[in-house]
Amino acid sequence: MALFNGASLRPSSWKFTRSLRFRLTLSYVVFFAILLSSLGILFRQALVTLLDRQTRALLEEEWAAVNGYLRIERRRQHYWYYDPTDLEEAAIVERLRRYFLLADTEGAVMEASSGYRVLGVDKPEEIRAAIRSQKEEWKIRYDSNDEPYLVRAGILHDDRRRQYFMAIALPLTENHRTIEAFTLNYSVLLPAMILASSLLGWFLAGRALRPLNQVSRTAQRISGSSLDVRMAPRGAGDELDRLIEAFNHMMERLTAAFEQVRQFSTDVSHELRTPLTAIRGQLEVAVFTAKTPEQYREAVLNALEDVERLSQIVKALLLLSRSESGQLALQKIAVDLSPLVQDVVDQFQIPAEAARLQLTAELPRECPIQADRIQIERLVSNLLSNAVKYTPAGGRVCVRLSPEDGQARLEVEDTGLGIPASDLPHIFDRFYRVQSADLSPERGLGLGLSFVAWIAKAHGGTVGVTSEPGRGSCFTVRLPVGNPEAPAPEAAAGPA
Ligand code: ADP
Repeated sequence: MALFNGASLRPSSWKFTRSLRFRLTLSYVVFFAILLSSLGILFRQALVTLLDRQTRALLEEEWAAVNGYLRIERRRQHYWYYDPTDLEEAAIVERLRRYFLLADTEGAVMEASSGYRVLGVDKPEEIRAAIRSQKEEWKIRYDSNDEPYLVRAGILHDDRRRQYFMAIALPLTENHRTIEAFTLNYSVLLPAMILASSLLGWFLAGRALRPLNQVSRTAQRISGSSLDVRMAPRGAGDELDRLIEAFNHMMERLTAAFEQVRQFSTDVSHELRTPLTAIRGQLEVAVFTAKTPEQYREAVLNALEDVERLSQIVKALLLLSRSESGQLALQKIAVDLSPLVQDVVDQFQIPAEAARLQLTAELPRECPIQADRIQIERLVSNLLSNAVKYTPAGGRVCVRLSPEDGQARLEVEDTGLGIPASDLPHIFDRFYRVQSADLSPERGLGLGLSFVAWIAKAHGGTVGVTSEPGRGSCFTVRLPVGNPEAPAPEAAAGPA
């Protein structure tokens, strides 16, 4: 619970800037701002290029028009050839002469309009250099008001192929104004667009995260006593639905684990209470009722038996915690399984007879393997104890051992209660007990088989079971004969 509530303890400003909604919106806005600014710069550049190209094209047109209207007949003798009564022609020529310079090869000015003079007449040496280079020139000049002009200068030929220097110009003021207007409008529009995009981003992020908030609110409702909380999938089949599904699965596993632990505590207290009550009874008999030394002795012996059961339970719990914490290291040595299994079977003959069961063993002459003797004894003993415990009187229990493909195969078969198919996948889980088997007079802790599975796995082996309710069960353990590879870490860490 603390995990879920921890965030609400922090200051709200911290929470706001850390919130997913804020961060999503911020990245969206930053992306949008970069995109819009880049687009603005790009458009502006495109506009500059377009206007520049248009002005150059216009100047080229005017240059060609000058060639049509200007006549230079003799050296340094020129005139404009047009019909002054044609108003249109007159206007064209007037426009052409507005920013106009004509000079000879020495740099002597033949005609310079007042407009061009304001821009600054080219010096003779500049003119001579231009004629020498034979190239057209484009340059920017400024008038007295600092207004820019585009100047096109180059060589002109008369009808005798003599060369002259000519320059014409056009004002760039209009172009610059257009670009400035675009820049200004865009800079005003940009913040407005960013603001609009942040509002949109905030709204969209809020909508996208709404189901997530619902998930978190539901998670906050969960506590040890309300583990049955589940979230209804939205049916969108998206990431959030998968999250909800994973959450529900997690809750199911958590509930099962909680239930196991709860059950375990009940079982442990129950298991401990029974022998404790019995010990108390025996001791009371010894103190208050017993008269003869035999009666004392019997009461104390009975008490001792219960103390033994108590110590068995405590030992199992200790073993569990040691194997869980990985402290239970295997001591592998060369072991002959045949006599080992025979010994365990012999130990169970008396309880089997008491339960009116027929206990038999089919063992080879020898079956050497590398193993931890004590753990393997525990494994066989757990399987046999279950077989005896869960087989009603008149039944049979048979232990078989045989070598098989570089492995030792141990089978413990009984004609007992059997295990329902629905319980089979869980019987190796810790604390798992089949409900119907609880009616058996000897209740276990549900740890025996998890130890069996852990011991088999830690030796690099396996354990499996086939069972039919009402007919019996058969547990099969396979252990590698040679030195098995190092057990997997989780096997060494304890029963799964
Ligand atoms: P327990 O201490 O309860 O016997 P185990 O881990 O040894 O715990 O066994 C888990 C459960 O598997 C038992 O509660 C029992 O219901 C079932 N089980 C184990 N062995 C047998 C068997 N030979 N026949 C029938 N049921 C069995």
